[in-house]
Amino acid sequence: LLGAPGAGKGTIAQQLGSRYRVPWISTGELFRSHLANQTELGRLASASMAAGGLVPDDVTCAMIADRLDRPDVRQGFILDGFPRTCVQADALTGLLAASSPGRCLDQAIVVKCPDCLIIDRLRSRRVCSSCGRSFNMVTRPPREPGICDACSSPLIRRADDQPDIIAARLATYREQTAP
Ligand code: ADP
Repeated sequence: LLGAPGAGKGTIAQQLGSRYRVPWISTGELFRSHLANQTELGRLASASMAAGGLVPDDVTCAMIADRLDRPDVRQGFILDGFPRTCVQADALTGLLAASSPGRCLDQAIVVKCPDCLIIDRLRSRRVCSSCGRSFNMVTRPPREPGICDACSSPLIRRADDQPDIIAARLATYREQTAP
């Protein structure tokens, strides 16, 4: 799934993942969990994420190569937010070709959404600190304020959902991912 930040990739990817019973692989979520666990990879990713830029391609591609090597992806998987550069797209083609013969993507879906809606959505977005599910304080609030409907963990505001970082993320999308 491709699309600007806040377009709805994560929400759609999670729904498709449960419908087709295949793992939801979000590079953003993987980076956030490395950050939370204070790994070396989290350290490498943190500055780019905080500034609304992209984590370097070599770091991102190595992380995805590792993830696509795990047994749970054999029946399929949904990629959310990868690839985001032409280098990553080429790397993905190579990774799939090098895995089991004939493996390829079924679909590449672009989720489109106007910038003004994205900005509103990201400002009122809250995410589960444990399972990553997204909520919107205006249009899709949780049943109990501040608590995830799915796993009852606290909801938080992502550090990069601040107005100036949102603008930087949109610019990054236009410059590096849209092509
Ligand atoms: P969004 O698409 O809403 O911006 P994500 O959770 O998908 O949020 O990504 C959060 C951050 O993680 C991005 O702003 C970027 O810094 C980093 N990131 C995620 N996916 C990639 C990727 N494929 N390549 C480089 N950086 C990425």
